[in-house]
Amino acid sequence: MFVELITTGSELLLGATLNTHQQWLGRQLAELGMPVSRQLTVPDSGTAIAEAVADALQRADLIITTGGLGPTSDDRTRDEIARLLGLQMTEDPDVLKQIEIVFKRRNHPLPPNFKSIASIQAQVPAGAIVLKNEHGSAPGLSLEIPRTTVGQIPRQLIMLPGPPRELQPIFTEHVIPLLKSKFSASGSFVSTTFHTIGIGESRVEAAIRPHLVELEARGLEIGYCARTGEVDVRLSAQGPAAMELVKEAAQRVRRLMGKYTYSEDRRILEEVVLGLLREQGKKLVTAESCTGGLLAHCLTNVAGASDMFVGGLVTYSNELKQSLLGVRADTLAAHGAVSEETAREMALGALARYGADYALAITGIAGPTGGSAEKPVGTVFIALADRAGVEVERNQNPFDRETFKFITVRQSLEKLRRRLLSSPGDGQQKSPQV
Ligand code: ATP
Ligand code: MG
Repeated sequence: MFVELITTGSELLLGATLNTHQQWLGRQLAELGMPVSRQLTVPDSGTAIAEAVADALQRADLIITTGGLGPTSDDRTRDEIARLLGLQMTEDPDVLKQIEIVFKRRNHPLPPNFKSIASIQAQVPAGAIVLKNEHGSAPGLSLEIPRTTVGQIPRQLIMLPGPPRELQPIFTEHVIPLLKSKFSASGSFVSTTFHTIGIGESRVEAAIRPHLVELEARGLEIGYCARTGEVDVRLSAQGPAAMELVKEAAQRVRRLMGKYTYSEDRRILEEVVLGLLREQGKKLVTAESCTGGLLAHCLTNVAGASDMFVGGLVTYSNELKQSLLGVRADTLAAHGAVSEETAREMALGALARYGADYALAITGIAGPTGGSAEKPVGTVFIALADRAGVEVERNQNPFDRETFKFITVRQSLEKLRRRLLSSPGDGQQKSPQV
């Protein structure tokens, strides 16, 4: 199956906007077993979009365009494609109604040119299926383009609006079911991804590859994707035996990498940690210094976090470490703000004061200055306290400030995840597959 993605927008070519659709849609489509074969970005102006679609139609089974469905003069996708395919456009009354609903929901007065905006965006090419947009005014559109050869699955052309917050829900809610129904015959691609943390890419490969050799010979593909502090392992296969191959490989990888795997679905680490807290009916408080609230930020990005996360303190100064967390002046004087002792008191203080079952505390030296021979830049202490006591780990994360913060937050979440997985008292890891 040949899938072609055409992103429109001069801002993408000028580097003013990062083309995140390529990444997001690329990943979604790969997981559906319809990986993107070719991707092109064209400017808004002229007939570039029509030329790109005309070219794609010569080889693609599925074409997805993004952007250019708005009401302004640089939004030409709908018009250009209708012109290319010789399709009449008519105003769709349901789309018009939906546009009004979306505008009214924003609680702004309707703009004076509302009628003309709405009327442009409610134009639908003949034969197109409207993909409802709950978050913006221009709906997505799907067109089936017949082939000359009888019996072949028709090509699909899908137009999606540019803003990610509009495109993503339309894709998830409308495009995925549509693609599944239209291309079910070619759905013999199976893929699963293990998200791991705390182990490098080459060690992951060395640990699993020898156990997958004969499955590889039978068509299994292994992909490694190193992200900051994490490694994803993708197992995929195509053809009639795909399901069986991937299932067998996944069992082996689970056995070998279980300890490091935090999810096999698409949940991110903070979701997994909050999920475990929820299951166990536990609450978390955080006390951060060098990560400046990033841990609390990551936790509060997850919907429903308030059930498990009581709050977080950013105690950057010694004064606040003392007044908000009860860190002793003696401790700070004797060991410094970046020390095992301070981390321990930060966690214990947060736990005692703020009504949680677990407290995570972080103190470290992000750099580029402030390091010493004993505590070089990148030194960080992560403390985890619960009713049974407190445990501190010391890590060395010698990266730029943003990466330092990001990795430190991952490490602290992972520390808590492991604690939540080990049954109380025995200190042993249970299977992390929850
Ligand atoms: P609108 O009705 O908002 O004009 P549209 O369908 O016409 O929507 P565009 O005008 O092409 O879409 O893009 C709208 C906004 O969406 C852009 O300003 C940009 O911020 C964002 N956007 C568009 N394409 C991409 C992309 N490939 N990656 C990330 N963001 C994008
Ligand atoms: Mg636009």
